[in-house]
Amino acid sequence: MSATDLLEKSRTKPGASTAGKSPARGTKLVVLSADGMRPDFYRRAADYGLKIPTLRTLVDSGASADAVESIYPSTTYPAHATLVTGVPPSVHGIYGHLASLDPTEPARPWCWHARALRVPALWDVARASGRKTAAISWPVSAGAGIDYNIPEIWDPALPDPHRDFSRVAQHSSPGLFEEVAKTLIAQAHAGTGHSHKPSRKSPHGHALTLPEVSPDRLRAEAALYLWARYKPDLLLVHFVRYDQQAHRFGPLSPEALAACEEMDTEIGRIREALAGSGPVTLVVLSDHGFVPVEKEAAPLVVFAEEQLFGRDKKGKPQLDRLGAVHAGGSFAVYWLEEPSTEDRNKLGKALRRLLETHAVAEILGRNRLGDLEADPDAEVMLEAAPGFYFSDRFEGPVVRDTVKDRGTHGQLPTCPGLEASFIAVGQGIVPGKNLGRFSLRRVAPTLAHLLGLPQDILASKERAVELGKRD
Ligand SMILES: [Zn+2]
Repeated sequence: MSATDLLEKSRTKPGASTAGKSPARGTKLVVLSADGMRPDFYRRAADYGLKIPTLRTLVDSGASADAVESIYPSTTYPAHATLVTGVPPSVHGIYGHLASLDPTEPARPWCWHARALRVPALWDVARASGRKTAAISWPVSAGAGIDYNIPEIWDPALPDPHRDFSRVAQHSSPGLFEEVAKTLIAQAHAGTGHSHKPSRKSPHGHALTLPEVSPDRLRAEAALYLWARYKPDLLLVHFVRYDQQAHRFGPLSPEALAACEEMDTEIGRIREALAGSGPVTLVVLSDHGFVPVEKEAAPLVVFAEEQLFGRDKKGKPQLDRLGAVHAGGSFAVYWLEEPSTEDRNKLGKALRRLLETHAVAEILGRNRLGDLEADPDAEVMLEAAPGFYFSDRFEGPVVRDTVKDRGTHGQLPTCPGLEASFIAVGQGIVPGKNLGRFSLRRVAPTLAHLLGLPQDILASKERAVELGKRD
């Protein structure tokens, strides 16, 4: 859909909202995604000993959900695509985090690029309606039509890809990364008394690093800069540290809870910066929750043993007809070519063997995936049993005690613990309102409404969540 079409749509359906009067045209919207944050963290912070004063204040002064039901698979990239489009993966086209179905590929690209989205995103409709847009590290936003954009993207072949910002710089709005980096480096310099120049020495030639602080601090600093300098009408920011620590140490580990507390501090700094900027709605949300795991299961070991993958002369696995994408709590399997009866028998046998390990709770076939509006190309998806997660390992035992992750997500969105969060504070939003449980698909129409746009400007069929009326 072209920008002109979108604008036309926004003009021809001015009163289409069912969620009451739209906020005033001049209301700005800041959306902070707290990746992986469960709503019980702000509902029952004391139970976890969590010190999150900003989030608790936001809950008291705004409307918040008990639970937001994510999509399938409940992973970051498909869920963030739903957050800005209001449609499920089968419609927006981001079915998983990886853009490659080849598990033998050593450095697989992720779905970083907005061109893969098959429907307009919130940033498209906002911009087409004359709103100034900005985003920091939002998944699936590289190359998006965002006025001030620094996307989340990296070079998966690098040993420490998240410390090198060369790809980010390449895919940011022209000159914007360098502009923001200069400010951040100057601030770090002023703060520490040490000079910090971006390093350009790397075996790959173009390393571009930033001050050694947590990714959430960097993202918050960049957001604060864009807010002060460009005053966007829509600002989207993605925080990742909790998700990283929850994967590594477990969702309730001291490390993960500390990351949540640090994020709370960053959210507090952003909230302070919004004061005095005129009417602004602040939304803090997440894409999915988290569950603890103790065991790792490797379906590819079984698939290789059943000869669904070849081996080269050195014994390295080689792609044949089967593709696969691991997603923590789920695992998608694809036929890359039309399978023979023998191929189907091999897969059937492999799946029976996997069920016998008790690592697989359920095998979802095409009909079930259709009902879930998930990946239409997958032949089956495996659902991890409680306590298990799936890896992309080809060697070793099928199931072993985890050596890496203590937390995961990716299972069915109804799996307890995988609920996502939503808190909204701003003019016209009833303080302390409990929004109960609703679908992640309703978030984008709600955000469109908060920006003063008709909610049906998006491809979503969902209604905006009512934030403004007392129960
Ligand atoms: Zn996530």
